Amino acid sequence: MALAAPLPPGSTVGILGGGQLGRMLALAAARLGLDVVILTPDEDSPASRVARQTFVAPYDDAAALAAFAAASDVVTFEFENVPAAVVEALAALGADVAPGARALAAAQDRVAEKTFLNGVGAPTVAFAAIDAQADIGPAAATLGHPALLKTRREGYDGKGQLWIETAASEAGAFEAIGGRPAILEARADFVRELSVIAARGRDGEIAVYPLGENHHEGGVLRRTLAPAETGQAVRDQAERIAAQIMSGLDYVGVIGVELFELADGRLLVNEIAPRVHNTGHWTQDGCVCDQFEQHIRAVVGWPLGPTAARARVEMINLLGDDADGWPRWAADPDARIHLYGKRETVAGRKMGHVNRLRPGD
Ligand code: AMP
Repeated sequence: MALAAPLPPGSTVGILGGGQLGRMLALAAARLGLDVVILTPDEDSPASRVARQTFVAPYDDAAALAAFAAASDVVTFEFENVPAAVVEALAALGADVAPGARALAAAQDRVAEKTFLNGVGAPTVAFAAIDAQADIGPAAATLGHPALLKTRREGYDGKGQLWIETAASEAGAFEAIGGRPAILEARADFVRELSVIAARGRDGEIAVYPLGENHHEGGVLRRTLAPAETGQAVRDQAERIAAQIMSGLDYVGVIGVELFELADGRLLVNEIAPRVHNTGHWTQDGCVCDQFEQHIRAVVGWPLGPTAARARVEMINLLGDDADGWPRWAADPDARIHLYGKRETVAGRKMGHVNRLRPGD
């Protein structure tokens, strides 16, 4: 990828998106002597309060994109639904965007994603593209029941998904998830959900963090335990999968890869996130170089940092009014509190997280 030389301290990283991931990227960049500018449609975003400058505009606002690109030495993003047209517009303005358009295209469409993954040798569940209600019956006959119907685009945290338990429950399923292009997935018979956070530098160097073991409630991540207790064979598979994905995308930056662990020890990829990831927050207090610093290092062309764990961590998401419990966490000497500064508490909204060191002691 471009960038003639590593960007020195004093350079500016542009971030598309103003949420908590952008905020934590900005904080990591500041520690390396780099400035951050944000482009977000939100007036008062978590990232904007720790950034040098914020352009408040829709992502497709041409004038705002031009000003944002002019202010940035390199551009990255904190969410994967950045429209392809925005990345193209930035490229036309001469901006260096990392990770690039290929990673976004692969992550934005579940059929493209699984097709790409299988193409680079990263195993997934069997699946079929669903464009109409009539596609569901034949696909389910091949994949077996139960099968999971998901929208191809813009689903997250379990939204836009419907289990089809039997042939009798297929009726109306396509409309129930919005009548939009979809994917039908065979059920993964997993024993655990794991994830691997990895990074690839501008020179192709790869660094992989220890695995996290993830626990969801209602489709939303609740806790990550890391490093996950696994055998070497599982770690080796995860590292190989992460490397295959990143090399296949000519990737630059941090990636999150969600995995299903099967009873026989095999790993399947559930999905990839071309950005820093909630299941990697434990690295802030469990590693010398966390995922946020790692991502900034990669996009500005610095050497990647160490990924070994120096502590075992339980990361607990603070959802909705969980965040009101901050005094309790503040009194716990093993807890590191990370609050996102969101003004409004909404049930289920990610307000912050706690990294509890030495869980189980
Ligand atoms: P996703 O939005 O694809 O990350 O899915 C949300 C959650 O649904 C995952 O974390 C799993 O717990 C579950 N899930 C997704 N796909 C499958 C599948 N093919 N088989 C079994 N469970 C799944």
